Amino acid sequence: MELNQSRLKQGNILIIDDRPEDLQLLAQNLSEKGYTVRGAVKGHMGIKAALSIPPDLILLDIKMPELDGYEVCKRLKSDPQTQNIPVIFLSALDDVWDKVKAFHIGGVDYITKPFQIEEVLARVENQLLIRQLNKQLREQSQQLQVQNQQLQQEIIERRKAEAAAEAASKAKSEFVANMSHELRTPLNAILGFTQILNRDPFISAEQRDYLEIINRSGEHLLELIDNVLELSKIEAGKLTLNETSFDFYRFLDALEEMFHIKAEPKGIYLMFKVDPDVPQYIKTDQQKLRGCLINLIGNAIKFTESGSVNLRVSRRMGNGAGGQGGQGEQLHFEVEDTGPGISAEEINTIFEAFAQAEIGRKSAEGSGLGLAISQRFLKIMGGEITVSSTVGIGTTFQFDIKLAPAAQPEIITKPRQRVIGLDPHQEAYRILVVDDTRENRLLLVKLLEPIGFEVREAENGQEAVTQWLVFQPHLIWMDTRLPVMDGLEAAREIRAREWGEGGQQENDQLPIPHSHTVIIALTASVFEEKRPEILAAGCDDFVRKPFAEEAIFEKMAQYLGVHYIYEDLPEPTTAPWRFNALGEKSDSFFKEKMALMPTNWLIALQRATKNLDEELVLQLIEQIPENNIALADALKDLLDNFRLDVILRLSQLFLNS
Ligand code: ADP
Repeated sequence: MELNQSRLKQGNILIIDDRPEDLQLLAQNLSEKGYTVRGAVKGHMGIKAALSIPPDLILLDIKMPELDGYEVCKRLKSDPQTQNIPVIFLSALDDVWDKVKAFHIGGVDYITKPFQIEEVLARVENQLLIRQLNKQLREQSQQLQVQNQQLQQEIIERRKAEAAAEAASKAKSEFVANMSHELRTPLNAILGFTQILNRDPFISAEQRDYLEIINRSGEHLLELIDNVLELSKIEAGKLTLNETSFDFYRFLDALEEMFHIKAEPKGIYLMFKVDPDVPQYIKTDQQKLRGCLINLIGNAIKFTESGSVNLRVSRRMGNGAGGQGGQGEQLHFEVEDTGPGISAEEINTIFEAFAQAEIGRKSAEGSGLGLAISQRFLKIMGGEITVSSTVGIGTTFQFDIKLAPAAQPEIITKPRQRVIGLDPHQEAYRILVVDDTRENRLLLVKLLEPIGFEVREAENGQEAVTQWLVFQPHLIWMDTRLPVMDGLEAAREIRAREWGEGGQQENDQLPIPHSHTVIIALTASVFEEKRPEILAAGCDDFVRKPFAEEAIFEKMAQYLGVHYIYEDLPEPTTAPWRFNALGEKSDSFFKEKMALMPTNWLIALQRATKNLDEELVLQLIEQIPENNIALADALKDLLDNFRLDVILRLSQLFLNS
């Protein structure tokens, strides 16, 4: 520590001594050394002087009339204004007890008279130095205290912010979970009744097709709900890759069928083009791939007002340059549309969660989540989405995923069978359906009664317990969220009574029902974590809503040993990809080539195709000049494959633009 000697010398010293000659001698020597010196010949005068201008040091004689040095020191030390001023005693008393007393009452040093002035100067300097060091130490400690307080405050604030963020994130998860619960409940009725209607042998083929569509759309809606949950799981770092082997052609068929319903009313031409070398069976995370494609194709159709939307799937070798799919064989996907495009300023923001570009905001649809989820899904699958777009022309999204072909036998395809009745050689099964929503009760009743089960209903947990006593069901389908008494409470009550702990059965005068009634909870809850709670309440198992009818029948077979009568269902057709043979060219190919043709020719082509005049179309193709032979070949190909519809669309597309 750097000590400033000259500053020490500027110290302010008070001498209290009743002997004027001693006082003078000291004052003179100290002044010569550069100190500011004051003197007092009486104790109380010294105290006054110390109070009016506190000195840096006091030299204090002990033996004085009226107030002696000890008393003066005591008073100085008892006053907060003067208690920290160092006091050096000066005295002719050299008994050790006098010295001890002097230190005891707060003196910092003791000089015996007669003194050597050099010794006094050295001791004064020493005490001033100690005082100076103490002062610095105090200041530093004060600074440290302030810093410490600031740090403490920062810690408190950070903790508060963390707690607030945690609470917000918890509230968000709960909100998402609750929302999905609320959405799943009505979906249960939608999906369930579609399945029931589907069992009706008298509906027409067309109606059956519509039912299929409702069913599939409902299932996709369910998937979307799951996606929102998925996003919150991604944010919580809980997302995993779930690879399975499946029929990729059937997968694409289902997607195409689903999107045709959306594209057709808008007059948009939807085309899936899959290269012939794309394998039929692949192994990947089917759900995530479907999620990405639904989002990209859905957006393309949603935002495109006229023209076309194309999905192209091809097989290619990865260049290993990270980004697009990495090394090895890849499946390449391209979703191209002739929609409004995305401006250069907005293109970087569209992958952010809840971000919508201008066109998205105008559409007043969507949540701005689709691309964010797709991008995160693909990241987990080792891919990456890229986008290129020209305002007014269209947008193309592209991504690659690792191609892992799967052998057909790896694919678990359950035989397509449907339960149509109960094997007659078994007892009559009594089933209790507990749900507060009428539709959901009706759904199970309509599913189970026609098969041959005896079914009764209850609207809440209390009724369930009563029905259980009266009806003695073999199995209870128990909704978990119920009014009056919730489903788990009812399960607990039933188990307690079964085990004779209910205390009420003696009074009820009713026989104890089945020794063990199977209780299967029906829950729209999205949390797997609920499982232990459900089982702990005494339920044997649970099925999530919305459920597939097979799940209901399977569980009943598993727990009751029910035997069913089945009918076989036809296998859906999965022809090798139907567009493969066409080898069709992209819209941009035609755009480039058709731009070289005169407008009159385009109008004539449009008219000829509209009139289905193949002769004339052929003649027009023959008019295409030599240097545009690729266009002639491509149009000829389309004509040979009876795709006048495609030629018409193309000619309209380019005439419009
Ligand atoms: P959403 O479709 O629910 O709004 P997305 O995350 O799927 O959310 O898309 C984000 C935004 O990107 C959209 O709101 C839209 O502005 C823009 N966008 C996505 N796809 C296209 C497309 N094919 N053409 C034009 N704009 C698009």
